[in-house]
Amino acid sequence: MTYFAFACALILGILFLRASRKLRNSEEYNTQLRRDIRNRNEARNKTHQREIQRLLDALPYPFFSISEKGHVIRINRHSEEIFEDRDIKDRSIRQVFLDSPIYSSIKSVLDTPAPYRGTLRLPPGSPFSSRAGDKDSHWEIDVRPLALQSNSLEVQLMMRDITASVHADQVRQDFVANASHELRTPLSIISGYLENLTEEGGLDNKALAQKMLNTMDRHVVRINCIVEDMLVISKLESDEAAPLKLAPFNIAGCVRDIIERLEPIIEQQKASVEVNVPGIQITGDHFYWTQILFNLVENALKQNTAAPVTIRIDGEQNKKGNFTIRITDNGIGIPGSDLPFIFKRFYRVEKHHTQSQVKGTGLGLSIVKRAIEAHGGNISAASTPGDQTIFTITLPPIEAPNDRNEGRLA
Ligand code: ATP
Ligand code: MG
Repeated sequence: MTYFAFACALILGILFLRASRKLRNSEEYNTQLRRDIRNRNEARNKTHQREIQRLLDALPYPFFSISEKGHVIRINRHSEEIFEDRDIKDRSIRQVFLDSPIYSSIKSVLDTPAPYRGTLRLPPGSPFSSRAGDKDSHWEIDVRPLALQSNSLEVQLMMRDITASVHADQVRQDFVANASHELRTPLSIISGYLENLTEEGGLDNKALAQKMLNTMDRHVVRINCIVEDMLVISKLESDEAAPLKLAPFNIAGCVRDIIERLEPIIEQQKASVEVNVPGIQITGDHFYWTQILFNLVENALKQNTAAPVTIRIDGEQNKKGNFTIRITDNGIGIPGSDLPFIFKRFYRVEKHHTQSQVKGTGLGLSIVKRAIEAHGGNISAASTPGDQTIFTITLPPIEAPNDRNEGRLA
């Protein structure tokens, strides 16, 4: 009996040990299985996250995703570039966007949550204005709740930099406003005189009528010049590459022609013009070169009616074929604060024109600059008022087209 009891206890003990080992094995197995599943899920999740990041980086705009609590969770490569070295991940939107309109837009979407789309103007100094330099920058922003399976709310912000197109629109609007203003003055003078002349007896006083006709003629010439200038500049500024009629011509001959045209003004102002330009051939568009030289010499004469001015035109070509031409005068000059703007359309030095009745639209130098750039060259201006003003043009060598005398320069 004792043996029997002992044998039973032994068998039970063995069975118990086996069962508990089996249990332990299956527990280990399950733990391992769970670990494997977790690892596999994590790996899959990481791949998934990497794919999302790749897609976000491929977006052409800055992208931010923001948590319900208002923290930046995810950004793309464009957002990183904007914030440069600053790590903005996990930061609150207040810290990242400060109290800019971007912050308020995200906040309103987090609070409502209704999507928001609009354009914002940001002053210089914010991370978003770096590309616009010292000007305001303009952004189109799109803030909307993210469609997530979980219950938590996330918000996505996408931003598109529209600064360049807003500035281009502004320039166009200014151009139209300025051009209409410039045309209105001579037109209203002409229509006023026409009214006088067409009234009954308006032609009785022949001398007075003739005077009016002469004035009207001068203003028609002026309108013509403005329209011509506007056509030239819009042609030079059209999106296509400016079509230039390239051909070799004698630059000294071109200078002689424009001086002949300006001879009446030179004589009237007792100005002197010294020319030191070699009689060489350069390749370019003769029409635009005449405009370039005419505008520069005309400016030197026009701005210096009070005292006789001396104008020098010096040209030289170096061994590499680069051509440089300088137009120098010793007149009133251009104040340093105005120099950076003189090549802009319609820009005129206020000081010059409030004191005297110098006529002009402010298109001359912008035409000069565009025309030189269309030839691949550049122009710079330096001035010490009352002493010396120099416009320097440099032009790389241009090959004349062989078949037809027509070329296209970018
Ligand atoms: P437009 O040429 O269209 O008839 P404008 O002569 O006034 O008009 P720009 O030729 O573009 O216009 O010149 C811009 C401004 O630069 C001039 O109004 C003038 O104030 C200044 N400027 C240009 N050249 C000289 C110069 N040689 N000396 C002094 N001021 C100059
Ligand atoms: Mg001019």
